[in-house]
Amino acid sequence: MSKVYDRVALIGLGLIASSMAHAIRWKGLAGEVVGHAKSPESRATALQIGLVDRVFDTAAEAVAGADLVVLCVPVGAMGAIAAEIAPHLAPGATVTDVGSVKQAVVEAVGPHIPEGVHFIPGHPLAGTEHSGPRAGFATLFVNRWWLLTPLEGGDAAATARLRGFLQGMGANVDEMEVGRHDLVLAVVSHTPHLIAYTMVGVADHLRRVTQDEVIKYSASGFRDFTRIAASDPTMWRDVFLTNRDATLDILGRFTEELFMLQRAIRMGDGDMLFDYFSRTRAIRRSIIEAGQDTDAPDFGRGAPPPKDERG
Ligand code: NAP
Repeated sequence: MSKVYDRVALIGLGLIASSMAHAIRWKGLAGEVVGHAKSPESRATALQIGLVDRVFDTAAEAVAGADLVVLCVPVGAMGAIAAEIAPHLAPGATVTDVGSVKQAVVEAVGPHIPEGVHFIPGHPLAGTEHSGPRAGFATLFVNRWWLLTPLEGGDAAATARLRGFLQGMGANVDEMEVGRHDLVLAVVSHTPHLIAYTMVGVADHLRRVTQDEVIKYSASGFRDFTRIAASDPTMWRDVFLTNRDATLDILGRFTEELFMLQRAIRMGDGDMLFDYFSRTRAIRRSIIEAGQDTDAPDFGRGAPPPKDERG
């Protein structure tokens, strides 16, 4: 794959940015990768492990001269960063982001983007429960969806160039309307995370009653929940604060289904439970057929990718 941008500036150097840095290098997609993170510790780590070519103390310095700027910070931090970098963006540059919520990012970032700079919001549907500059690996985006939510009147050539860059990292790129993105993600990601946080919270209360047995004998279902519930607290706080309406809508529907199942259990309605679980099993099968997961038994202890694939 050949170079798509001369200089890519990554603002935020956590899991997503560090995975991008590895993937960009692996595939030779940029002439130079520069970055900025909030804390001196993360900036020092990024330099020490050779994640980027240069690290800057401010986001404003990092974006100067970049033809692609990627905002890889928590959703709640995007607006302030956009305000800071706006006067320093190169004419003709593209600004994108990787935030898990799109409407809030469009509202926070959009007004700051100067004339002649292309703002194309995006979201990779890929991640792990780990954070920080050491968490990334080059194959994170391979065969994963990367959704772009281009704005009305945007530049088609700039979007096509960004699409080629993301495909270069191995992602499958699709376009979606902003509101639709937030509703779909509330179903497939945000609400499941909230349910995992809740279930682990319930077990934590129970643990005090059962003297650590919940942890000691934890079975696969619970272990899966704990993995999801170990995700970054700042990121997920911001997701729920900014995708409030869609998450509340899906949580309402979830609660109705839960009451229905609770009633079936209480009434001993085995047919209802069997039919329900048969339908959910079919959904799992279609996810595997779509190549978004494998059929290998996992029990929440998925092996990391082989060393040579981490970049
Ligand atoms: P992460 O590993 O916690 O990294 C966040 C990075 O942002 C850190 O380098 C942090 O700097 C930096 N940062 C935070 N506030 C900042 C500020 N005000 N100015 C400059 N840098 C700041 O997070 P992540 O998982 O990469 O997530 C980043 C974005 O990707 C979020 O918007 C999230 O919604 C989205 N996303 C995450 C996943 C996932 O599974 N993790 C998946 C898809 C999309 P310090 O290290 O110095 O604190």
